[in-house]
Amino acid sequence: MEQIIMTALLTLTPHQFSDLTHSLSSDFRLQHHRRCSLLLAPARFTHTLHFLNSLSLHQKTILIARYLLTTLQQLTLIWDIYTETTATTGPGLTRLRDYDAVLLLMLLCEVSQHDPQALETSSTNWIDVLQDYTLNNMFTVSGIGASSGTILSNYIDIATRCWRFLEATGYHMEMEVGTSAAAVVSLPSVNVSGGKNSIVECVICKEEMSEGRDVCQLPCQHMFHWICVLRWLEKTNTCPCCRFQLPSDDVFAEIERLWGILIKKGSRKLWEF
Ligand SMILES: [Zn+2]
Ligand SMILES: [Zn+2]
Repeated sequence: MEQIIMTALLTLTPHQFSDLTHSLSSDFRLQHHRRCSLLLAPARFTHTLHFLNSLSLHQKTILIARYLLTTLQQLTLIWDIYTETTATTGPGLTRLRDYDAVLLLMLLCEVSQHDPQALETSSTNWIDVLQDYTLNNMFTVSGIGASSGTILSNYIDIATRCWRFLEATGYHMEMEVGTSAAAVVSLPSVNVSGGKNSIVECVICKEEMSEGRDVCQLPCQHMFHWICVLRWLEKTNTCPCCRFQLPSDDVFAEIERLWGILIKKGSRKLWEF
C-alpha cells in the first residue's frame, strides 16, 4: 500500500504537492489538538473510552474503515472532484464522538505496540499512561514538532495500518452499491447540440437524445437521458459506458473507489518510467 500511495504522489506537480502537504499539516494539527484535549479532559476521556468499550468488533471495524476513508480522502483530494462533498456528507468520519473514539483507539494501539505492557493496568490509569506517552513524543514523529515530510509519511502509515487491519478482519464490500444522492444531485444537465452529423444515442435505452434539457452528463463526459441514468445510478455507482466510479454511501465501496484512483495514478507513473 505504501508504495502505491507514494508512486501516486510522485505524479503531483510541485504546486499540487505543496497544496497537499499544507492541507495535511492543518488536518494533522487538528487531530493532534483533539487528541491532546481528550487527554486533558478526564470526563470526556472516560466518556469516549466507555463508548469505545460499548462497540462490538464489527462496529470497531466500521470505525477504522471510516477513519481509513477519511485519511484516503485527505490523500486523494487533489484528484477526486467529490472529496469536498463526500467529506461532509459521505460515509467517512463526520461525527465528533466517532472521531474522538477512533483517535483514542489508534492511540491505544500505538501505545501497546510501543510498549506491550503499558496498558496492563486498570483502565482508570490509562489516561495517565497515554498522557505520559504523548508528552514524551511531543516533539517527535507523531507530535507537534513533525515536518511536512514526516506528516505525509504519518498519513501513509495510518492508511497502511488501517488497511492491514481491515484485510485481517476479512471485510468484504457489496458487489453493487447505488450512487450517493449528493453526487446524483450535483450532476449537470447539458444541451445536446442538434447538428446533423451528431446524433447522439443514449446507451441505456438505445434511443436518440434530442435537443433539450432532459440530458445529463457524468464527469467522464458520457451523456444519458436523465430518466434513464437516474434509474441506473440507483442500482450502481458506475458509468454504463466506461465504468467511471461515482461516490456511494457505502464506506467500503468508497475506500475501493479512492484506492482505485491512487492505483490508476501510481501505475500511470510507473508506465512513464
Ligand atoms: Zn435513454
Ligand atoms: Zn463514462
